[in-house]
Amino acid sequence: MRAPKPSQQTQPRCQRRRCIKSNGKLSWVAATSSVRRIARRKIIAYPTTPHTPTNFIPITMSASTARIKTRILIISDTHSASPLQNSENDFTAFRPPLPKADVLLHCGDLTMMGLMKEYKTALKMLKSIDAPLKVVIPGNHDISLDKDYYLRKGQDVQGLQEADPDMPRRAREFWRGEEAKEAGVAYLDEGSWEFTLDNGAKFTIYVSPYQPEFCDWAFPYWRIQDRYNPSDQTTRRGIPIASNPIPDFPIIDIIMTHGPPMGIRDETSTGEHVGCEHLLRAAWRCRPLLHCFGHIHEGWGAERVKWKEGQELEAQSERNIESKERIEIDDEKMKAERAAFVDISEESERPLERGSETLMVNASIMTSTYKPWQGPWVVDLDLEKQ
Ligand SMILES: [Zn+2]
Repeated sequence: MRAPKPSQQTQPRCQRRRCIKSNGKLSWVAATSSVRRIARRKIIAYPTTPHTPTNFIPITMSASTARIKTRILIISDTHSASPLQNSENDFTAFRPPLPKADVLLHCGDLTMMGLMKEYKTALKMLKSIDAPLKVVIPGNHDISLDKDYYLRKGQDVQGLQEADPDMPRRAREFWRGEEAKEAGVAYLDEGSWEFTLDNGAKFTIYVSPYQPEFCDWAFPYWRIQDRYNPSDQTTRRGIPIASNPIPDFPIIDIIMTHGPPMGIRDETSTGEHVGCEHLLRAAWRCRPLLHCFGHIHEGWGAERVKWKEGQELEAQSERNIESKERIEIDDEKMKAERAAFVDISEESERPLERGSETLMVNASIMTSTYKPWQGPWVVDLDLEKQ
């Protein structure tokens, strides 16, 4: 999608909102190519009550700096598994009850192959978690949520006798439907979103289900393609394709992608780093408090990243990192508490330095052999008061 023409940018609010609905993206942030312009203008509010995907309103950025400590529960790559199936398994933290949180984030791969019965199982699992808002994106295994991919390959992957061209519509309708809304689920398309929470905090989140091409699964892009940075921020090594670039600091509080950035919790069991270099550079530019993802099950864990200042655009994206520090977790404590807890709020021993640090979390629940035994993450952080 291209940037709106200047005439569109000066449309009255009601026209903008109609435009958003008709282009199917639900967000005019997603239709704007200049990230810096977004920072000065408006982003989309998506109130948590009621959880209605069409009930969004444009709002202005606030100058307020009052903040509210908020608890985020993060899981990814559940592949139709549920904590309930581990009720008797005290060797894992992924067992009931998971900690109560203000927001649950699911970073994709809800299922093994995007069957409707798997989506129903995944929604049942989400319902079992005590959080008023559950922000969800698909991953490369949720193939029927990637229409282009599904129409090309869905029949083979799902072993169907006949293709079901209506499946992508039904899958999307399921995740945007009444049952999901009543469970507090907000199923998001790629782009920037803002939520207001029941605890009085608000947060902005950039989400993307895409990842570098991976064994011909869904939501792919070629490694050379840069889908996270605007064209004037793409290196000579990349081809700009972003229709929803990640905004510059300080717009976004949280980035949630299915795939990891290059060099951060992205190492496979064969020792290969398979994260995305363009995503890492975009994270450096955006500097959120938290960037969570999954996809590489072996990469489960968290790191506190300190960003370097003043790098050249063409530098390798890993050189944008000043230091990385692995978050050490007590395994026994995690199993007892049903999650790995990290406090980066002002009340903690070491608050996160907003704008110069980001907490990076790979929250894959499945092990590399598809056992749902890795722990959820709980992150306490300060969000702006509404
Ligand atoms: Zn997975």
